[in-house]
Amino acid sequence: MNTYKRVEILQVPFLQAGFNETVELLTRSVTSNAKIQVVTANPEIVMMGRQDPEYMKLLQQAGIITPDGIGIVLASRWIGQPVSERVSGYDLLHGLMKQANRYGWKYMLVGASPSSSDGAALKLKELYPNAVYAGHYSGYFTEEEEPDIVKHIQQEKPQLLFVALGAPRQEKWIARHLPDLPVNIVMGVGGSFDVLSGTVKRAPELFQKLNLEWFYRLVSQPKRWKRQLLLPKFAISVLWNQVLLRRN
Ligand code: UDP
Repeated sequence: MNTYKRVEILQVPFLQAGFNETVELLTRSVTSNAKIQVVTANPEIVMMGRQDPEYMKLLQQAGIITPDGIGIVLASRWIGQPVSERVSGYDLLHGLMKQANRYGWKYMLVGASPSSSDGAALKLKELYPNAVYAGHYSGYFTEEEEPDIVKHIQQEKPQLLFVALGAPRQEKWIARHLPDLPVNIVMGVGGSFDVLSGTVKRAPELFQKLNLEWFYRLVSQPKRWKRQLLLPKFAISVLWNQVLLRRN
């Protein structure tokens, strides 16, 4: 992992590895029985970190942060240390599940509504029959229910744990439990279970290719508009930072 360079975008260190390289290095982490928290961070997450020092600290401590969003890719170019491509949580989930299917890794899911959670588990079992399903929990549990979830994960010791509680809750939940979780890779995957279960549609491929997935999400889930106001703020902050750096 140390051989990969990182680019700091507004103090968040992004791994400068493409999708395949990221899957490869995470596969090596499983083989060497390491434990890694993966954050797939978009501009909204970076801006949340700037508003919440506790969140920023745990982002900076995460093992790997991948560039999830065209905003991050563009920002890395403005900074002059470009990342090669976007590595989204949804794609990385499938990339890792393919490896789980190939090597017989165990996986568990935590998060989303009961129907999305059930649907996501069903879909993953269907798509990756050789991966070993070890259980799933919906994401609307109480604090009292948490110890049982952690206990189940401790009994199963899955290589992969996907947590879909939305940002920043999922990263905070993972960081809080990480020392007690006997897993290799634990990753926050936002709305991925909703997409897997078919509750929410991912942007059509054309939107993805044109780097307009953010626009599709804005139009299809208008209640996100407030969060998306963070996008222009992110761009201005990155550019302003560059101006300040050049002046000094
Ligand atoms: N969620 C959850 N528990 C909560 C809040 C949210 O399981 O207390 C789930 C929610 O059902 C959805 C996911 O977290 O499946 C958040 O999806 P979103 O697309 O908002 O992810 P983000 O963009 O925040 O990463």
